[in-house]
Parts: sequence; C-alpha cells; structure tokens
Amino acid sequence: MRIKILGSAAGGGFPQWNCNCRNCAGLRNGSLHATTRTQTQIAFTIDSKVWFLIGASPDLRTQILAASELAPPEDCATGSPIGGIFLPSPDTDSLMGLLHLREFQSFFVFATASLQKILKKENRIFGVLDRADPPVQWQTLSARGRLGCHLSESPGEAPAFICATVPLSDTYPDYVSAELVPTLAPEEATIGFSFEHRGKSLFIAPSLSGRNSEWTKLATPADLTLIDGTFWSDDELRRTGRSNKTARDIGHLPLSGTAGLFEQFPRNARGRRILIHINNTNPILDEDSPEHRAVLDAGFEIAYDGMEFDL
Ligand SMILES: [Zn+2]
Repeated sequence: MRIKILGSAAGGGFPQWNCNCRNCAGLRNGSLHATTRTQTQIAFTIDSKVWFLIGASPDLRTQILAASELAPPEDCATGSPIGGIFLPSPDTDSLMGLLHLREFQSFFVFATASLQKILKKENRIFGVLDRADPPVQWQTLSARGRLGCHLSESPGEAPAFICATVPLSDTYPDYVSAELVPTLAPEEATIGFSFEHRGKSLFIAPSLSGRNSEWTKLATPADLTLIDGTFWSDDELRRTGRSNKTARDIGHLPLSGTAGLFEQFPRNARGRRILIHINNTNPILDEDSPEHRAVLDAGFEIAYDGMEFDL
C-alpha cells in the first residue's frame, strides 16, 4: 500500500487567510521556522494505478494538480486514476472538495447513510456529481463494520482491500438543520477508517473527539496511524483569540493535558504514529518550539504536505 499526504492542516490551512495568530503572522513575515500546509487530504493506492481519497478537502483541485500520480492516464482522452472517495464526516472541510470533482467524472463515494442524507436532502448542490455518465455511485458504510473493496468487477474475486470503520464522534455540524439531526444516527457523525491489505493496516482518524475509546482497537495493531493533531491544548482557541470554544467543544481531543491524545494513545501500539489535521494555532507547527520537541519525544511524527509512506 502506498499512502500520500496531499494536505496536513486543519480547516483554513496554514497560514489561514484571516488569521493573525503568532503562527500565521510569523509564517507570513518569515520569522517562524515552519512550513505552509494545505487542508487535510490523504490518498492511497494498493496497485499504483487506482487511487482512493480520504475526505475531499477544499484544496483538492490544487492538491490533485500537485500530485503527478493523480493526473489522467496517458492513453485516455479523459479520466482519472481516482477510483473512490471515503468520507469520514459531514464537516465542511472534508466535503467541499467533492465540488472540484464535478467535471462529468464517474467514481465511487463511500459514506454513511446519515452523511448521504445530509448531502442529498439539504445540500443539493452536491447533486452536480450525478451529471457524470454513469453518475457517481454512492456506497453505504456502517459506523462499525468491515467492507470488502474490489478494484475490478470480476465475479468471485477476493476483495482487493478491507475498509473497517469505527465511530469517533456523535455530534453533527451546525449547518445540519434541527429537523434533520434527530433522523441521523449519532454513531455515524464521524467515523475512522482502517484500510487493510496483505497483512498491513493503515488507521486514519483526522477528527477524534475522544468521547469513546473504540478507536484504540484499530490503532493498536495498525502499521501506520494518521491521527488528529488539531490542537495542542484544550483552551488553544481561547488563548489565541480565535473562539470561545475549547478543542473538546468542537470535537477534537487535544494532544496535551489530562486524558489528552498522548495519554489516551495505546501504549502497545506498534506502528508509526503521525499527527495530521494540524490547526494553524497549534504551537507544534513552530519547529523551534518546546511543543514540537515534545511531540517527537512522545514518539509521534508531524505530517507535512507531500509526506509519503509504503506499507
Ligand atoms: Zn493562525
């Protein structure tokens, strides 16, 4: 399995266009030892031909253009190596990119029934995907399940890889109407993915509320974990003047502090652990900061755009 991180920042990217926090200002004026990051986007392939996306970031068009692997195949007048997209949640930042893919291209979208309901009932702009011939095909994921995924339509063939899912949060975004929310399954609000191929597994949870610990069952055996590194501390948005909400209020387990990610991450996990979806306010982005050092000392790595892995 080959994995490529096309974007590693949280919503807004780094720097964020309207943010003048220490990090964003420092990056703009050159005083901060840090690297720009686009909004979180992950891609993987098991055969180096068909690629799958995790989420669809608002930066997806430029991210695809920056990755030569995702260019149309040489022998085709039109087409894309992107075969499917796995959607983890209805958060704007993991959906908006679908609109970049509206150019009459057919592919699969894997999403829970609740997420599909939000898009099809209340956000009909995503119906532009149906203009492709054949139209985009929606595949339903359960919040807890194992789905065999095929790269060809040959009958009787074993799945090329397995997608296992786990519920990560029970809260829907504010833009979903009060009428619709009670009809949605709480466990389908945000899900994590484990992709398994030839005895190797990749666990992905860019948005982890920490309200349950089921995710540790998939993170413990994973060869590679890409996990929520949004905030260093619970009160980070308050301290930087960005919001009155805490990290936990908006569904992100902070890295540090009591019962933060560093404390909750399973001690016996065996694979590489990479922090992704890093908010522009997070001090770990400053490569000279004590927080950046603390991440490395805790055995984690920090994702950057263009980072690649082979499993
Ligand atoms: Zn900022």
